[in-house]
Amino acid sequence: MTAITLAAPLAGWAMPLAEVPDPAFAQGLVGTGMAIDPTVNELRSPCDGVVLSVHRARHACTLQAASGAEVLLHLGVDTVGLNGDGFTAHVRDGQAVKTGDLLIGFDMDLVGSRAQSLVSMMVVVNDGFTVDGQSVNREIAVGEPAMTVHGGSGADAAAPPATPDSDETGERSVVLPIANGLHARPAAALVAATKAYPGTVTIHCRDRSANAKSVVALMGLGTVLGDRLTVRAAGPGAQDMAVSIAVLIEGGLGDPVVDTASAPAATAAAPVVATPASPATGPSAQPAEEIGPPFAPGEEVLLKGTIAVPGQAVGSVVRRFRSTVRVAEEGAGPAVEEPRLHRALDSVIAELGRSAERMPEHAAIFQAHRELLDDPELLDGALADIRAGKSAEWAWQRTARLQADALAALADPRMAERAADLRDLEQQVLAALSGKAPSIGLADLPAGSIVLADEILPSDLAGVPAGRLAGIGMAHGGPTSHAVILAAALGVPTVVALGRQAERVPDGAPVVIDGNRGELLVFPPEDMLATTRTAVAARAARREENRRSAGEECRMADGTRIEVFANLGRVSDAPGAVVEGAEGCGLLRTEFLFLERQSAPTEDEQHRQYQQIADALEGRPLVIRTLDVGGDKPLSYLPLPKEENPVLGLRGVRVGLREPELLRAQIRAILRVKPAGACRIMVPMIASPSELLAVRGMVDEERAKLGRAEPIELGAMIEVPSAALIADRIGAVADFLSIGTNDLTQYVLAMDRGNPHVAAQLDALHPGVLRLIRLAVTGAKTHDRTVAVCGGSASDPMAAPLLIGLGVTELSATPAVIADLKAFIRTLRMEDCRRVAEAALATDSADEVRRLVAQAWPAI
Ligand code: PEP
Ligand code: MG
Repeated sequence: MTAITLAAPLAGWAMPLAEVPDPAFAQGLVGTGMAIDPTVNELRSPCDGVVLSVHRARHACTLQAASGAEVLLHLGVDTVGLNGDGFTAHVRDGQAVKTGDLLIGFDMDLVGSRAQSLVSMMVVVNDGFTVDGQSVNREIAVGEPAMTVHGGSGADAAAPPATPDSDETGERSVVLPIANGLHARPAAALVAATKAYPGTVTIHCRDRSANAKSVVALMGLGTVLGDRLTVRAAGPGAQDMAVSIAVLIEGGLGDPVVDTASAPAATAAAPVVATPASPATGPSAQPAEEIGPPFAPGEEVLLKGTIAVPGQAVGSVVRRFRSTVRVAEEGAGPAVEEPRLHRALDSVIAELGRSAERMPEHAAIFQAHRELLDDPELLDGALADIRAGKSAEWAWQRTARLQADALAALADPRMAERAADLRDLEQQVLAALSGKAPSIGLADLPAGSIVLADEILPSDLAGVPAGRLAGIGMAHGGPTSHAVILAAALGVPTVVALGRQAERVPDGAPVVIDGNRGELLVFPPEDMLATTRTAVAARAARREENRRSAGEECRMADGTRIEVFANLGRVSDAPGAVVEGAEGCGLLRTEFLFLERQSAPTEDEQHRQYQQIADALEGRPLVIRTLDVGGDKPLSYLPLPKEENPVLGLRGVRVGLREPELLRAQIRAILRVKPAGACRIMVPMIASPSELLAVRGMVDEERAKLGRAEPIELGAMIEVPSAALIADRIGAVADFLSIGTNDLTQYVLAMDRGNPHVAAQLDALHPGVLRLIRLAVTGAKTHDRTVAVCGGSASDPMAAPLLIGLGVTELSATPAVIADLKAFIRTLRMEDCRRVAEAALATDSADEVRRLVAQAWPAI
């Protein structure tokens, strides 16, 4: 029997475990030891030993002392949910350490403000050891003797458990429903449930297994929400044991149960240590990942994401990674909690009204939030929890998260964005309940801030003072989210889907955000910062200049006419687009009118909106795209089957043909717009001429019923590869073609446009995409049809000369870039565009294409 003294790993107030504000630790379920409320930000080794594991969230690590004692050092309470934010590990698994070596550094302000408590625990977690002599209820300095551990001798401690006198075995499989995996608290609960069992219990996950009687081993499994675990027991009553452990896991082991049916399941092949990029789903559905230490000054790093709002900016990083809000579960009873929830909801609704007044052009977004708050399922779910004794905070958070997770689990990026709206509302209502400001704190930004966040939400942007926010980088998020629409309105360059490596960028780091390329350059060299600053200032001056001539028609330097239109999503976008120089609307995404509602807009409602947009365009053409929703963008009121691969299923025109009444009502609403020539109809996701012919049949019938004599132009979107390949056949039945490069690129490259893992390679300038665009143009020309581009590459200045060189004559872009785009096109000559486009078709990659364009037009 040996005894070792453990030194204090932190300075601060030493306290008995019983005082820790976490029942699992306080009741000694995790292990025996003590706690320290720290006054320093470095966790040091309490003994000589070996690091058994550093938790992937970097908030805890376990050491094995020479005696075999396993010591868990756990920083703060409920810090696993920070997913590593604010923690820097200085050691690795398997590393030998000496007493006093630095193990983990942490940002006290960040962790202190986002965790339930900073109180940190040091406990011995394995059997065969006892602890005494805890030096508590006093200030303690790092390295001072803190407690004594008796027992063990290395070899004994590692000895396998005695084999029980039974060869019964039991096995059960279960999906882990715990948001942060088997972290300290659930691991301790599992150990408590298995400890007295005379046989063995092991938990298997992917290719790893752990003794279910060891907190360290269970934490070391690196499990995440949605993992499939196999419980194996051996010994007397093993089958019952396996079943009861599986039932306990299904019950959350003391943590809230997350609905894994709606959360994305971890795949069997998923690595324990994850790759840098991560899915765009929300934080609650996001498995924790080891992302590495913060980037250090001088470490020049390029992070690639997805273009959301074009433009460049230089500035200093302000980190705003959102953490989960800790709430008390138990309430003061329905009589108190119900009115509290209603008051909080009322105050958020009132604030939404004020936001709508501050940003009237985006009132629809705040109205959509309001409708979400009115959702009876959300309120009923929360009220049911309150009536079961929960607090208003707990009930609201649980219900909002369940619904947000369900939305995020739908493969459609726009639904994931609605999930982001719900998470926004979750935070706002919690803030209203606590009386604190709801936003992530963008109201007091210093000038020149580049905000990095997991996801910025619309409410965060509503209070941003003008001119302070220079750029936005989001780890997650999609380029069409409401927040991105607001960022575009503010003219703030934005890059989304940067992946979790963005979390490694420290506060205050100088960065260049490039919304034209979808890049974030961290710690750029001084000279580059200076040149980019000059370039940004020059661009701002040039943009002002360009806006002065934006209203004039767009002709290339050699006189070739190129039309530059705007993509619109709602009535309020139209007047601004005209001011920016839009010569019409080349794509009205009508699905914005259909989403976030309980029922389809009536024909009259649609007609009113189309008419208002046509009026705002003052005679300029308006291309209205018929509804592009489907399996991946379900409408609650549209009965469509659930699909395995919704992006390859019922979408776009396929839905319209399956639900003809919906499509016919939309067609009638368009046909009624006055004057008769104001609108054209465009059909999404055309794969074959027959689909367009079917729609044409409906248009002709509805036109006859309305007694409208004038024909209406009917165009096909080219966004399915087959449509590009047989554009000559589609051109025979369409009046015009418009290429949707967003979908065309996703289908040609087989890369999901909403998946940040592939966002960096998802480039519409890939020569494969360009070759299809040429085929589409050539096919259309055989029937003398015009070809437009309305996908994202129409807003990419690098793409413009190539598209024009390939024969595209109309670009429909996001309004904010139109003035600059027109000015640039005015400098181009067709022969140069053709030459560079030809060369681009003969390259191997989008990067090569971009280099060619940069060489030909260095000023872009
Ligand atoms: C496209 O796919 O390029 C397009 C314009 O349509 P959406 O982005 O709305 O799918
Ligand atoms: Mg599309």
